[in-house]
Amino acid sequence: MATIYDQNTQAISGEGDVSARIEIQTTDLLLDLFNLPREFTGGFVTGTTMANFSALAVARQWFGTQFKQDIAADGLINLSLPVISATPHSSVLKSLAMLGLGRNNLITIPTLSNQREAINVAELKLFIEDHFKHQPFILVLNAGTANTADFDAIAEIMELKHSHNCWIHIDAAFGAFAACSSHYPHLLNGWEMADSIAIDCHKWLNVPYENACFFIRKKHFSLQFNQFKNSSAPYLENQLENFNFMNMLPENSIRLKALPVLFSLLAYGREGYRYIVDNSIKLAQELGNYIRKSSYFELLAEVHLNIVCFKVTAACDTAEFLQKLNKTGLVFMTPTTFNHEKGIRAAFVNWRTTIEDIKLVCSLIENMIKSKES
Ligand SMILES: *Cc1c(COP(=O)(O)O)cnc(C)c1O
Repeated sequence: MATIYDQNTQAISGEGDVSARIEIQTTDLLLDLFNLPREFTGGFVTGTTMANFSALAVARQWFGTQFKQDIAADGLINLSLPVISATPHSSVLKSLAMLGLGRNNLITIPTLSNQREAINVAELKLFIEDHFKHQPFILVLNAGTANTADFDAIAEIMELKHSHNCWIHIDAAFGAFAACSSHYPHLLNGWEMADSIAIDCHKWLNVPYENACFFIRKKHFSLQFNQFKNSSAPYLENQLENFNFMNMLPENSIRLKALPVLFSLLAYGREGYRYIVDNSIKLAQELGNYIRKSSYFELLAEVHLNIVCFKVTAACDTAEFLQKLNKTGLVFMTPTTFNHEKGIRAAFVNWRTTIEDIKLVCSLIENMIKSKES
């Protein structure tokens, strides 16, 4: 419908088109789904890559204002921006590259252990005391890493906001959906204090591709506006009547991406998404239990949420095994490297996956090893 409707989502006071109003209503409903306060404004973009990019662009603008610089207007002048994280998604590095901040300039803090991707909070605090005690910085946290769905200790890290001048961004591409689950909302404790959050709609929300959202605190409205404004008309600023997404998003032209999200939220509601999310987590645990017991495979990390990261231990190369497995056409998993080892990543977000699929996968991978051994 969004495609056939073929309207550009722009102004709230535009003539004869309700797209922008639908988009605002939909981001409010998403905030409700995640139990986030409506203290954020949202914007739809193509994926979490662009959501991270957009949020970090506003963070960059914030950083400039700490030194009385308008980076969007004048460019980066003699400023180096400290961006700190532990195991950011590759798209965060890509964003730093696109923002002129440089992927090599990310400051990496160690994780809790070799088996964990969550940041070591004690080390983070020490590092900040040593280097940024009185200086602004940008912190990128993970709510669900792509490899193992690991979560940073968000609530504990948010305490830094009381004593330090920092922008905290959370990449919650799929981890945001822990908020819908029966047993895992605590993983997101404290995320309501973030300055910006990125979430994917084409993953666990299960709408078609090219759909993600970024949330920025409303108090940062003018930073967001100054970053993305398409016209220089100053009267637009801070006036909701003149609100125009053209001044709030990287794109000037964008179709009504909110529509599939709105329809899905109205159709399934909080209960529907709780079911989908609980089911994915349950299936990941099932596969994880099988791998844990099997003598042919080994978990590379605990199953924190909806991702199983494992390797082949039998006399068989993990990467080769994965290639053969995907060639069967019965299941598709992705390769990864975790803790210096080649691994296989099974990620669960699809609403149609059932326990029958897990049974099929377990017998398939076991038989592949057995037929190789015999
Ligand atoms: C998938 C993912 C991204 C990138 O999202 P795209 O929609 O592919 O652009 C970023 N961060 C995390 C944690 C992800 O899982």
